[in-house]
Amino acid sequence: MDSPDPAAAAAGSRLTELTDSLARVRARIAAACAAAGRAPDEVTLVAVTKTYPADDVLLLTRLGVADVGENRDQEAAAKAAAVAAEGARPRWHFVGRLQRNKCRSVVRYAEVVQSVDSVRLAVALDQAAAQVRDAPLDVLVQVSIDDDPDRGGTLAGAADPDIGLGAVTAAVAGAPALRLAGLMAVAPRGWEPARAFDRLAGIAAAVRAEHPDAGVLSAGMSGDLEPAVAAGATLVRVGSALLGMRATLR
Ligand SMILES: *Cc1c(COP(=O)(O)O)cnc(C)c1O
Repeated sequence: MDSPDPAAAAAGSRLTELTDSLARVRARIAAACAAAGRAPDEVTLVAVTKTYPADDVLLLTRLGVADVGENRDQEAAAKAAAVAAEGARPRWHFVGRLQRNKCRSVVRYAEVVQSVDSVRLAVALDQAAAQVRDAPLDVLVQVSIDDDPDRGGTLAGAADPDIGLGAVTAAVAGAPALRLAGLMAVAPRGWEPARAFDRLAGIAAAVRAEHPDAGVLSAGMSGDLEPAVAAGATLVRVGSALLGMRATLR
């Protein structure tokens, strides 16, 4: 039967789509946890909503998604404001490359910044967070699994100390307005994901030996969440498997 209200009908079918895709993603996470002998509640799902509208974020929050991720400040700031205006309060994660001059904007909506990869960025984020926040901002230090500095991420053996993993984790841990919550990484192109995430797990264990409270490991996306969970990911960032293929590759 046709709905008398086309807008309501469209929203209803999007809700059905997102209900189904969310069930599929949650089932994948649960199966990956079961295969790894882990409890499904050890893994937080962050819905990466870049390129998709605030209405989709609202539908996902209605479906119980508490964490959403974005990778560009301008888009994220507008979307967070639109979502807040509707009374929804998801935790916003910033997961993209961050320029220092955007820190003052990002700290106004983000609860977690997952992509800190230089000492200079940590310093700028700390200064920005100190001005607007009462509680420290959760930070994940981004790791380059293949030691390629061009694609972002800190390097365990960096020649440039500004992007050294040890220097950046120490800078975040010592920043009064930041809290070192853990690490984030993207599997490098051309690498078998299982190999990439095993390497990441080793790096994470070494960081935790020094910073025992930095227990978050953000790894795994639509195409590779299973090997990430097998390697110990505590947070997966899923975009296209939830929302659909993006028109642009980002
Ligand atoms: C876009 C993006 C994701 C989600 O990617 P999908 O393959 O669509 O799941 C995860 N992490 C980061 C950093 C991203 O930019």
